Amino acid sequence: MSQPPMPKVIAAEDMMTHFDNGFCLKYSRSNPGHCYCGRYLVYWTCGHQHAEVVRKCAAQLSLITRLPIFCRTPTPRVRVDNILIHGRCDDCLGAKNTAV
Ligand SMILES: [Zn+2]
Ligand SMILES: [Zn+2]
Repeated sequence: MSQPPMPKVIAAEDMMTHFDNGFCLKYSRSNPGHCYCGRYLVYWTCGHQHAEVVRKCAAQLSLITRLPIFCRTPTPRVRVDNILIHGRCDDCLGAKNTAV
């Protein structure tokens, strides 16, 4: 058993760049064509969920809208483990700072 690599801690505004350049994408053997279609769950450094990013490889198009659709349902949910968003979620900030 090898240790997973340390996640890269990034700013929230850089998150989509890491999806666009493919850093966060995972090719799933459960997808037809082993593509990267999925719902990617991104986490804060506090450990809570920051965002859910939808990625579609565009191998499949909707017959009605002609827009990309997921290759498989149910869509794989992928926990992104190679990046973390620097900061804490609203819940964690709220627990520390009770002033509203
Ligand atoms: Zn796909
Ligand atoms: Zn939190």
